[in-house]
Amino acid sequence: MQITGAMLIGQADVTGTEAAFQAIDPATGAALDPGYAGGSPAHVDTAAQLADAAFASYRSTPPAQRAAFLREIGSQIMALGDTLIERAMAETGLPRARLEGERGRTVNQLNLFASVVEAGGWHGARIDHAQPERKPMPRSDIRLRYIPIGPVAVFGASNFPLAFSVAGGDTASALAAGAPVIVKGHPAHPGTSELVGRAIRAAVQAHGLHEGVFSLVFGVGNDIGQALVTHPLVKAVGFTGSRGGGLALMRAAAARPEPIPVFAEMSSTNPVFLMPAALKARAAAIAGGFVASLVGSAGQLCTNPGLVIGIASPELDAFVAAAREGVAGSGASTMLTAGIHQAYEDGVRRLSGLSQVEVLARGGRSDAPNQCQAALLACTAEAFVRDPQSLGHEVFGASSLVVRCADEAQMLDVARALEGQLTATLQLEAGQDDALVSALLPILELKAGRILANGYPTGVEVCHAMVHGGPFPATSDARSTSVGTLAIQRFLRPVAYQDIPDSHQPEPVQAGNPWNVPRMENR
Ligand code: NAP
Repeated sequence: MQITGAMLIGQADVTGTEAAFQAIDPATGAALDPGYAGGSPAHVDTAAQLADAAFASYRSTPPAQRAAFLREIGSQIMALGDTLIERAMAETGLPRARLEGERGRTVNQLNLFASVVEAGGWHGARIDHAQPERKPMPRSDIRLRYIPIGPVAVFGASNFPLAFSVAGGDTASALAAGAPVIVKGHPAHPGTSELVGRAIRAAVQAHGLHEGVFSLVFGVGNDIGQALVTHPLVKAVGFTGSRGGGLALMRAAAARPEPIPVFAEMSSTNPVFLMPAALKARAAAIAGGFVASLVGSAGQLCTNPGLVIGIASPELDAFVAAAREGVAGSGASTMLTAGIHQAYEDGVRRLSGLSQVEVLARGGRSDAPNQCQAALLACTAEAFVRDPQSLGHEVFGASSLVVRCADEAQMLDVARALEGQLTATLQLEAGQDDALVSALLPILELKAGRILANGYPTGVEVCHAMVHGGPFPATSDARSTSVGTLAIQRFLRPVAYQDIPDSHQPEPVQAGNPWNVPRMENR
């Protein structure tokens, strides 16, 4: 499949009319052909009109057809073969193995959503049968099911060019819900985006769906993103990126004559709590796993462990010594873009320059472009609790801050001072750290979307029970997730049908249950 520099608006290839841009290989600084030109509000309008026109037929697709379409997208992505992997490597600086794994995850994600569509639980069908004899008032027949919210705008993320991008979790969950999707491809990997967009478009065609089910637009600068979020026919937004970007989109969505929901995943420092008995049992091993989690993908993961909290002791010193050694021995690695690299350098410089922060170790450096030099820093719990906004602010990349507590009470104070997080990790010894774990868990439940023990927060499983969400600023809406099949809920809303004749009821709540969906019934 060819990369042409076009936007994909329905089945049409459209050349943009706004500012031109090119992908840059972050490892060399070289511009990659072809050139792209940004879309205008008129292009967004065409895509939105098409999505709106597609909505009626797409949301009525029977489960088998919608599931087959999702699986077809996965097959089309695999059919892109090495062309996709090589383009993604050039545009992101990420290694082949990482991108092949990410491609597998993207396809598995689509297949998982296909199985969810078929299983039918997402319809949320409930039936309260009529009770005409009920006294003093008869009860009507009332039935509920969920319908898709309408066309969804998806902003591809820079750090997962496949799994959080054009055919990533937001797109897969919206399409599974029955919502047409307009993606704004991330400007750092337009070629990868175009290839994946063409794969989706081929699947749309293969399944005879309305062309407006999917469009892909491009642009640099905020205009096209703003045009998407403020377009009256767009009904929800999925976003992964910076806190500033997410907040700007939330503001734009809230200021519309008809406000719409924005599901933004923004920033998290993913604290790792080191329990005393766990440190006693395996300080060096914990440090080894921590450093691997910290420096993988140059730390450019939303679940990167950016905070480590332990109680001052010889065992914490042993952890710090091993972590210092690991970080100092880590090689520099290429970051995704010059902007992300600059933001990382600025963030580490800002933290290192604070009087309450000690620099424990820096990783290997390199003079090649956009190299991430890992950083391990430290402060006291008192300092952290005094200024959690500044010390706990995400530095996107391989940087982590060790917070030394005097005692257990201070560790609880640090937990209470945290902002909302995607994850919180406990390194613990069952049966030995129980009292502290019991005190921490109720605090962490209020802070994080996922709490894990004796692992590391990076490496998010795509499954039914996953929550990749959490209170602000981790996300804009703590009631949902952007990874895992529960993500479909973001793009659905419930409708109740009262005393509607059976021939007019939607399939999930019809008497004969033609789609055989699970239902809650009350006779
Ligand atoms: P970003 O700057 O937030 O951009 C993400 C997408 O949103 C891009 O398509 C961007 O396009 C668009 N956008 C940003 N601000 C906008 C606005 N005000 N109005 C309309 N559209 C807007 O994120 P990024 O480029 O991926 O990386 C920058 C920083 O984001 C990183 O340094 C890091 O701090 C953070 N980040 C965090 C995560 C995470 O998971 N926590 C992941 C990736 C990045 P335009 O800029 O062209 O408008």
